[in-house]
Amino acid sequence: MTDSKKINPQEYGFATRAVRAGQERTSEGENSEPIFPTSSYVFASAAEAAARFSGEQPGNIYSRFTNPTVRTFEERLAAMEGAECCVATASGMSAITATCIGLLRTGDHIVSSRSIFGTTTVLFENFLGKLGIATSFVELSDLAAWEQAIKPETKLLFLETPSNPLTELVDIAALAEIAHRHGCLLVVDNCFCTPALQQPIALGADIIIHSATKYIDGQGRCMGGAVCGTHDVVGDAVYSFLRTAGPTMSAFNAWVFIKGLETLKLRMQAHSTNALALAQWLEQQAAVERVYYPGLESHPQHALAKQQQSGFGGIVAFELKGGKDAGWNLIDATRMISITANLGDTKTMITHPATTTHGRLTPEQRQDAGISDSLIRVAVGLEDMDDIKADLARGM
Ligand SMILES: *Cc1c(COP(=O)(O)O)cnc(C)c1O
Repeated sequence: MTDSKKINPQEYGFATRAVRAGQERTSEGENSEPIFPTSSYVFASAAEAAARFSGEQPGNIYSRFTNPTVRTFEERLAAMEGAECCVATASGMSAITATCIGLLRTGDHIVSSRSIFGTTTVLFENFLGKLGIATSFVELSDLAAWEQAIKPETKLLFLETPSNPLTELVDIAALAEIAHRHGCLLVVDNCFCTPALQQPIALGADIIIHSATKYIDGQGRCMGGAVCGTHDVVGDAVYSFLRTAGPTMSAFNAWVFIKGLETLKLRMQAHSTNALALAQWLEQQAAVERVYYPGLESHPQHALAKQQQSGFGGIVAFELKGGKDAGWNLIDATRMISITANLGDTKTMITHPATTTHGRLTPEQRQDAGISDSLIRVAVGLEDMDDIKADLARGM
């Protein structure tokens, strides 16, 4: 296979890596990446089987361990995040679970942003808590609070930036410095920006988490996830847990995500352009009290967003005048926009966080998190801007 033309990602720019990194052509000379739907692999002899199992000879054994389509996805995403290594998982949640179980033991401690994906909070509090791994939750942008919450047993700092749904940011480089001064790893769930808009490893983060289900797929088809980092941390500790416990990515899903990565930058730019236009329009509407979007001059961390992101992303939140009824009316008046709590799709989606994604919180917890009854979140898609605006204007 001397004509496979497998590229060395380090010699190429971001867009080229997104299109070509990790591809190794087979002897068929296919131009597009193939899918390998096989659970196991055959050996030329009993001796070769023994050599593969003992690790003396590299190569495939079983698709819970390695699969060529999944490997192409992993190498491509690693090249885009600027990571040494990537392991693919069955979902975003299994990426977070594998990272925590792979790296932590009973008695260890996590410091996490309070503003994270709801299911991640449940994982930390209920399931890791049951194993004796405690989590302290802090305000995302408050660097002093992060440092104060670190204890001798703290191993991981965990966050999402921008946060969901209020698009609050944290200075990743400053937090990485704090993490490393205390011997902790900084874990960034980069689902909202993707490497097309933000590359946390270049800012000092150690581990990147992805829900590939969102923008990496980008068209709402497959569940998947990934963990990126160093060979020692991700390629060894996280991967060992994954291949043993089994929440690995299927070859078919990996192929969908490979094709998603090829257009990721273009799509993220288009989501960002639409979201900024929507946020600016919302600011002009009499029915709207306040708009949250890092691309707006009025966003308190607009300068930080410009510095650490190359685009502002597709998530816009806003408060209506008139509480929950006004919010539900606006949602129910739409004729085109999808009423769903998902994000990262070509289709624009609308949700009322207080009664869906944040419905399990007590009213006090919601108030602390800044989730008011009149808050609406829009995951801006790729339809015509005039159609998105007209659909939202119906209920105002
Ligand atoms: C959706 C999401 C997850 C979980 O991913 P799944 O693929 O649904 O398991 C984790 N983090 C963020 C920020 C998400 O939006």
